[in-house]
Amino acid sequence: MAEISIRSMRKSFGATSVLKDVALEIADGEFLTLLGPSGCGKSTLLRILAGLEVQTGGSLAIGERVVDGVRPKRRDVAMVFQSYALYPHMTVLENMALPLRMRRLSAWQRLPLVGRLLPGTKVTADQIDQDVRRTADALSIGHLLDRKPGQLSGGQRQRVAVGRAMVRQPAVFLMDEPLSNLDAKLRVQMRAEIKELHKRLGVTFVYVTHDQSEAMTMSDRVAVMLDGELLQVAPPQEIYADPDDRRVAEFIGSPK
Ligand code: ADP
Ligand code: MG
Repeated sequence: MAEISIRSMRKSFGATSVLKDVALEIADGEFLTLLGPSGCGKSTLLRILAGLEVQTGGSLAIGERVVDGVRPKRRDVAMVFQSYALYPHMTVLENMALPLRMRRLSAWQRLPLVGRLLPGTKVTADQIDQDVRRTADALSIGHLLDRKPGQLSGGQRQRVAVGRAMVRQPAVFLMDEPLSNLDAKLRVQMRAEIKELHKRLGVTFVYVTHDQSEAMTMSDRVAVMLDGELLQVAPPQEIYADPDDRRVAEFIGSPK
């Protein structure tokens, strides 16, 4: 069963066509990687899945629900950004708790809020606190909850960003080059951790990278993207051994 169906997806910024008729079905529980060079449209596609960008044409279903026009918070997805996008003035605990605190509040309650739970909502501050602590422990950042992002290493910040996505318990994780700001050694270690997370949670991951070894080692399937088009969508071995055309072969560096 497809967890995500992307049909005839197009996106233009002014006269520039960034996505050209992208079609893709992603299975429930799959780890799918969008792989392609910088500027090919990966982030744009991911942002459309998250609801942060509106497509010019085409449609999108997540979990069998057509979500075109559905706001980000109402989609069952969580995104980890390349920049991590943590709030510098908040502690790790507050950063991780934020999605839970925001989720069940109506718009009028949310406005004056940020970081505080109003009475009368379903989830208590204690429950949120417990959820965050459990998640933080699972990611080995339980001892960092009182720090601010500026007091963390790059790897720790990355874990906080993953943790903040995890606390929402989404059906779909969207990850936009989450390791690109880490040094090489940590990057390899974090690959394994993200794979472990995928295995443990069993939910759908849509992962974006320009790094082919990342894509090849982590993914169930890889979607090779170039200039706003998907050239080939297949398991890593197949992409490497049997690239569909020369552009894929060139990008992957395979023998064909
Ligand atoms: P990638 O993530 O693969 O590097 P992006 O999706 O970020 O690629 O960008 C694809 C193309 O769309 C680039 O040429 C980029 O300059 C352009 N682009 C992305 N966002 C915008 C925007 N908000 N306004 C104008 N052009 C944009
Ligand atoms: Mg990008």
